[in-house]
Parts: sequence; structure tokens; C-alpha cells
Amino acid sequence: MIKVTNLKKTFKNENGEFHAVDDVSFKVEKGEIFGIIGLSGAGKSTLVRLLNRLEEPTSGKVIIDGEDITLLDNKKLLEARKEISMIFQNFNLFNQKTVYENIAYPLKLNNTPKEKIDSRVNELLDFIGLKEKAKSYPSQLSGGQKQRVAIARALATNPKVILSDESTSALDPQNTQQILQILKKSVQKYKTTIIMITHQMEVAKDICDRIAVMQDGKIIEENDVEELFRNPQTEVTKNFIRKIVEEDEDEIIADDFEGYVVRLTYSKKSYNKPIVSKASRECNVDFNIISGNINKLQSTGVGYTVVELLGEKDNIEKAIEIFKENGIKVEEVK
Ligand code: ADP
Repeated sequence: MIKVTNLKKTFKNENGEFHAVDDVSFKVEKGEIFGIIGLSGAGKSTLVRLLNRLEEPTSGKVIIDGEDITLLDNKKLLEARKEISMIFQNFNLFNQKTVYENIAYPLKLNNTPKEKIDSRVNELLDFIGLKEKAKSYPSQLSGGQKQRVAIARALATNPKVILSDESTSALDPQNTQQILQILKKSVQKYKTTIIMITHQMEVAKDICDRIAVMQDGKIIEENDVEELFRNPQTEVTKNFIRKIVEEDEDEIIADDFEGYVVRLTYSKKSYNKPIVSKASRECNVDFNIISGNINKLQSTGVGYTVVELLGEKDNIEKAIEIFKENGIKVEEVK
């Protein structure tokens, strides 16, 4: 149903050319959820933007239901894009419009009659479980609720494909699960197909039928989920899988602790600075280190520790702010 062949995107920079997407080919069947996973900079976002030509391909084909998207003139491209919806990490809702108006928007653009808009929006509000929020504005919703509205808006015109670009990356684990369930249900109920870009293997594992792993603009490995986990071929895939196993272990260990337990992931920028002791001193929060991984830190420039935070709630929040300001990723374990 979707067939991508030898797709390339080359950017010119001061050093010459840079191949952000480098000869990528894959197929996705109707009704599949196809994951594209890779570390930051692998080329995932560029690839997904090539599929609806938000970014113009340098070469290659993108065939959706027999139609080569790369050959369409502007008018036909606009038509084709109605069949390709997109959801993003930062939701991209219209803040001045209500939930109802956000979902109705693509239908209005399509000149759908008012009664049809009304019944479709109500059906979708029901589908995402937010009927009571129809008149609310995005600023009155939680992150998970905003993403549910974005999904309803994406589904409104009954698209062939939904492109999801890190749609759960800004959400906590509970909201992430809820969004993944809604996406799964979308495929079942509305017979859509989803291409799901993510840097989180736990997300890809929970929802995708097949996963392609991207590195340096190329797909370096592709398989159905069970086989990918059973028999990973590349170091990148092995590292993604190892991380999930470690995270599961963190959760089990965290059960022995009373306080708030978080996983702190360090980047190249943050790993050699005494940020934890700075936050401890300035915010009057005690840190109890539960587990960590320093070897990985030295080999790849990133590492993590799982810590229990003990102190006043406000102080803990301040400490977390200090981490974030210093480029440390903070994830709640318990
Ligand atoms: P990912 O989504 O996997 O994090 P991206 O597709 O955002 O990766 O980026 C892949 C690479 O392409 C990065 O090195 C990025 O700097 C580069 N890149 C993306 N967009 C542009 C652009 N418009 N001009 C130049 N380089 C770009």
C-alpha cells in the first residue's frame, strides 16, 4: 500500500553535501503499524516529512495506493495530503480554537456539510473519550488529552495514512500507554495505516507490527517485532533492546523505595558536571542512588542513574528543573 523506493534527501552545508536520508526503501501494508526507530539525528523526521513532501525528496519514489507522491503537481499534492494526516510531539493544536473546532477544522477545509461535521466530530470525541471537553481550549487540557484531540483531528477526514512523529515523546508513561491504545484502536476501527517515528523502543515494541531501525540516514535493520527482539542484527538495535530490559529492572528495584524515583539520563554535555550535587545543595533534596550505568556512559557519551529523591515536594520540583536546564533527561520510574 505504501512503497518507498531509494528515497534520498541531501542537504548542502558548508562541508559539501549531507545525506540526511540515504537510499531508503520499505513497504507498509494497509492496516499495519510500521515503526521507524533511531537515535536523535538518524534522519527519522526528515524521512517522515519526505513522505508527504513537507520536505522535497532529492530522489526516489513514495507510492501510496499506486500513486507516486513525488510526481504530483502542487494542486494534486494538496489533494493527496488530505489522505495523509500527521501527529507531532508538540501536538500542534490551534490554541484559539476549542477541542470541537480543532477536530472540525480539516472537515471544514474539505467543505463537508455542517451536519456531517457535527456527527463526525461527536463520534471522534466519543472515540477519544473526551466528549465532556468539546468546548474546552487546548490550554485547559493535559498533554495526553491534547494528543488525543490531535489524533481525532488526524482521523477526521478518514486518511489512508497517519504519520506519527514522536507523538508520545512529551508524555509520561501512563499517557503514553493511553495514546498507544488509541492509535491501535484507530487502525482497527478506521482501517488506517500508521507510520510511527520514535526514539523509544518501549513505544515501538508495544504498538508496531514491524520495525525499521535507522542510523545515519539508512535503514540498517528491519523485521517484525518478535523477530527483531529475538535476533537483533546490529549494535544499535541491541542497545535499544538492552535499554528496555534495564528499564524493566529499574522498575522492579524501585518498588523497594518509599520516595520519588526517577531515571536521569545524561548527555555528552551533562555527564561530566556535578549537577546532581549542585541540585542537592541548592534545593535541599537528598539523593539516594539506586542504580546506574557508567560503562555505557564512557563508550557512547551517555549514561544514566536511577535515584530516589527525598525532600519537600516543591524542592524536588526545583531540583528536577535544574536537571532539565542542564540537559539531563528526567523520567519518572515510580
Ligand atoms: P531525527 O528525526 O532522527 O532526529 P532528523 O531527520 O531531524 O533526525 O535529522 C537528520 C539529520 O539531518 C541531522 O543531522 C540534521 O541536522 C540534518 N538536517 C535536518 N534538516 C536539515 C536541514 N533543513 N538542513 C540541513 N540539515 C538538516
